[in-house]
Amino acid sequence: MSFFQKINPINELNEFCEKNQEFLEKLLKILENGYCIGCSVRICGNSQFLFYKTKSLPTSEEIYKELKQKLKTAMNVEENQTNPFKTKICPSCFGILQNDIVSDIIIKTKKRFYSSFKSFNISLQIPDLKPESKIIEEEKLDPSNQFIAFKHYLKNIIFLEKINFEQNFNSKMVPQVKAKLEICVKWIPSNEIEENNSNQNLNQNSNQNSIQNLNQNSNQNLNVKRKRTRRTKPKRKTQNDYLDEMEKIGLSLDVETKHQSIWITGNYEKYSRRVSHSPWHFENVKEGINSVQEFIAPHFMQVFKGKSIKFMSSGREDVDVRMLYPGRPFLIEIIDPHDPNQNIDFSQYEQMIKNQSDGIVCANSLRFGTIQDQTQIKEGEENKRKEYWGIVWLSKPTDKSKINQIVAQVYSEKSDSFVIYQKTPVRVLHRRAILSRERKIFSLQFDLINPHFLFMKTQTQAGTYIKEFVNSDFGRTSPSIAELFQCKAELVQLDVKNIIF
Ligand SMILES: [Zn+2]
Repeated sequence: MSFFQKINPINELNEFCEKNQEFLEKLLKILENGYCIGCSVRICGNSQFLFYKTKSLPTSEEIYKELKQKLKTAMNVEENQTNPFKTKICPSCFGILQNDIVSDIIIKTKKRFYSSFKSFNISLQIPDLKPESKIIEEEKLDPSNQFIAFKHYLKNIIFLEKINFEQNFNSKMVPQVKAKLEICVKWIPSNEIEENNSNQNLNQNSNQNSIQNLNQNSNQNLNVKRKRTRRTKPKRKTQNDYLDEMEKIGLSLDVETKHQSIWITGNYEKYSRRVSHSPWHFENVKEGINSVQEFIAPHFMQVFKGKSIKFMSSGREDVDVRMLYPGRPFLIEIIDPHDPNQNIDFSQYEQMIKNQSDGIVCANSLRFGTIQDQTQIKEGEENKRKEYWGIVWLSKPTDKSKINQIVAQVYSEKSDSFVIYQKTPVRVLHRRAILSRERKIFSLQFDLINPHFLFMKTQTQAGTYIKEFVNSDFGRTSPSIAELFQCKAELVQLDVKNIIF
């Protein structure tokens, strides 16, 4: 039994009222106006009472009767014939304190199906109604008497039930913002609650579908932010209209939750010239076989039961380009995981990815990452070097000595790299702005396969258009392999051999 449970709040209030008649009179006056017991004690400015505990608290009417009796005996006053409890909804908190808040939060959070989490934090959103001013005016209460702010009162109620929360969720309730699970408790007009619940059910269904259909329908779940169903808000109501409505229907509790993302990082390899980086869609129908992200991401989406997932990588290669070992760094963000505390054996997942793709897509060095890895992945896109292996076709025959002569010619004296100028390639002009930029080529080597085919090894600065470096893109890249060999040149096959940070 907790410390607070040992104290009977009614007894304490009784004792206080016996000693303080002025307080008792004021309290009765407020209760007569239909305010709930929590609000009445709060408005009277006494923060000592443990009326914070909302569970099994007597109704305002019961307390009123008891206290009235006390006042009658003390002052011998006449009985008030009017029934102050006609109004069911407290005009100050609009029903918030009249409900068992803590149990409601626990029940509604449990309905969100989080099976495990390490810590949680509760934030409260209360409509800005400034309800106290009404009673201060009506009852001509002394404003110098400190009213206890509603939000402060509410926080205390919840904090006093800390143990209850921790037992229910087997988790720590922490006051910091950095808690793993964020529980946002909102009070909204009761008539909006039902509508909101039906939206939640819709989301729940689509969430389950998204896990099942990730492979078939991943465009909607990967990289695309889920459309949130908007709650309809009361239309352009004035503050007074709003208050009137609240008095009639009251406020009900609504819970929104979001768990901190889980990050997984590693390198991927791709051994096919038909697998794209991300899913391709034509008129909303997915084209071709699975993409790299579809071979990797769904495994983690399933195990952590995420709401959605984001797949990021340090650049990407074209569909017909292979990515060889050690692979390209990538990062997965699992958004709002519902089962986050999984201890997973990453080597087992590396094996699963390999088996499921028949070795076409592999992942290595898998491990948990952080949000900081995102910056590193993005920076890598600009700063890294790339090593390519490829096969080049030449329209004119060549030989070893000519190759040596050409390679020697491109390097200026005392420099181990050379610069090429590239205008935005024709093939990407429809989606990128026209730019002319310099790119460094750090190394260039050729092995003669036969007089028309060369095996090329080259290391280039990030962002070099490698196909255009070979074929010259109608003279838009210079110097190019075509220009150097003074004939037509095409890249027949390309592999990314390494990404060097
Ligand atoms: Zn109230």
